[in-house]
Formats: sequence, structure tokens, C-alpha cells
Amino acid sequence: MRFDIVTIFPGFFASIFENGILRRALAEGLVTVEVHDLRAFTHDRHRTVDDRPFGGGEGMVLKPEPLAEAFASLGIQPKAERMKSTGFSPYAEAATEPRALAPEGSSLQEPPFAPRPLVILLSAQGRPFTQALARELAATECVVLVCGRYEGVDERINQLYCNMELSIGDYVLSGGELAAAVVIDAIMRLVPGVLGNEASSEFESFGVADAEIANAEDGVPRSQHGAGGLLDYPHYTRPADFCGLRVPETLLNGDHSEIRRWRREQQLRKTLANRPDLLEGATLSKEDRKILDAIRGETE
Ligand code: SAM
Repeated sequence: MRFDIVTIFPGFFASIFENGILRRALAEGLVTVEVHDLRAFTHDRHRTVDDRPFGGGEGMVLKPEPLAEAFASLGIQPKAERMKSTGFSPYAEAATEPRALAPEGSSLQEPPFAPRPLVILLSAQGRPFTQALARELAATECVVLVCGRYEGVDERINQLYCNMELSIGDYVLSGGELAAAVVIDAIMRLVPGVLGNEASSEFESFGVADAEIANAEDGVPRSQHGAGGLLDYPHYTRPADFCGLRVPETLLNGDHSEIRRWRREQQLRKTLANRPDLLEGATLSKEDRKILDAIRGETE
């Protein structure tokens, strides 16, 4: 999978993918990240990327021309054309050098090699970025992330080029760079081969519904099944006693079905306490509902 980031602060990304799982994914060629300096697509002495807003008001707005040029340099046409053309390869140069995009032996190197880029504008006004969306995006080949600054990006860039606007939360950041890093991190770890254990992303917070998990029966007592849209349960490691707090006995007694039950109850407790909204869309069994009623009863 390939990510392209368009930003006025390319230096922001210098060390951000140099740790842990992401570093390994890049080193192994499972994922490629290219950062493009928006100022490289300006033509004046001051390398101007912004201008005052029409209609007056606060701040500055990122001009459309440098962004359009940045897209053109990547071979990215306006979305109307992108949708029309069938065999369009957005990375014409990379396509002749497929190793830039895919590791040796990857099926991405086989023709037809015509990945379509999904252009995403990072924006506080965007649709919420969720784990479900991260899963969908992990199945695409090329994602282009446009980082706004100041008051944002000239809206015509959104209209002409962007497939979606994405928000990473209901707050305003000073730029799209942190948001792009968050989006890439969450997607990247879902790309096949990046996490050591393919199943592990299914068993964490916001995991897929139980019914979608085919390989839950590997004997490891994780949650009862998948997280089913719930938050994860609490995790503990050694020592069993820390600052007078003992690890819950259930986790020490080796009874797998008891551990599963305990973990499921903890997921329900955490979700009810921190994200009750998730319970509406979660896959809940009859037993889950009973447990929830009991937990609610405790506080009444
Ligand atoms: N005027 C904009 C508004 O009120 O929605 C805020 C602009 S913000 C200061 C500058 C840039 O940061 C945005 O163009 C966007 O790229 C990024 N940004 C800010 N908050 C974000 C969020 N919650 N999710 C994703 N990107 C965000």
C-alpha cells in the first residue's frame, strides 16, 4: 500500500514512522510513504501557498494552484476524470518502477498495475475517522492525504480532487499533519502482513463483529469472541502485585472459559462507562445483555 502526503511541513514526518510496527512495515516494503512539500509547487520568490479569504474574516487559506500542481506531479487528475478512465495509473513513473510501491513477489507488481488513488482531505469538517473506515481503507492501494493549515484549503480542491474529507475527532488541530499521521498509523497496521498476528486487530477495541471472525478458536482466551464493536478489556502483566494492587484472580487461575467471561464483562463495563454510544451498534448476546443489566443495577 502506498501513502502520499501533501504538506507545507514535510519535516514533520521525518521521524514519525521510524518506530515499532510502522518502521518494520516500511522496511519490509509492505507500505510506502512519500511526503511532498507543497511549497515545491509554487513559482514566486516567497514560495507562497496561502492567501486571504474572499469575503473577509480571520486567517489565511491554502491556495488551490500549488495543490493542483502537486496532484499533477503525482499523475492525479481531477476526480471526474479519475472516475471515468479505467486503466488510469496515478503513479505513471512508479508503475515502471514497481518496487517503489510493492515488495518483491507482491501481486501488485503484476499487470494490470493501475491503482486508483483515494484522495483524502484532512479536515475538522470531515466525516469521522473510525476503525471500520480504517479497515476499508487498508484494502485500497493508494491513499493521498492533503494536510490543511491556517483556515483550511480552498474548497474547490475538495470539490475537484478529494474523494472524502476526514476528521480524526471533534476538536480543531492547527494542521492536518498530525491527523495524517494518525490516519496512516491506524490504516497501516491493518495492511495484511504488518501485524505479526493477523487476528490481533480483530480482538482489540472496535474489533469486527463476532460473526465475521473465522479463526477465533485458537485456544487463546481473548475476549469471548471478537470485540464486536466494544472497547478492549484491561490488560495486565507481571508482577502479579504492584503497589498493593493485585491482578484479578481470574486471570491467574488458568480457567480459559472463566477468563473469557471475565474479559467480556470488563469490555462491557468499560464500554458502558466510557463509550455507551458504542453499545447501540455492538453485537451483543443474551448473556451480554444480562451482564449489562447487572452492571447498570450496581450503580442504581
Ligand atoms: N477553519 C477550520 C475549521 O473551523 O474547521 C479549521 C482549520 S485548522 C486550524 C487547519 C487544518 O488542520 C485543517 O485544514 C485540517 O487539515 C487540519 N485539522 C484540524 N482539525 C482537524 C481534525 N479534527 N481532523 C482532521 N484534520 C484537522
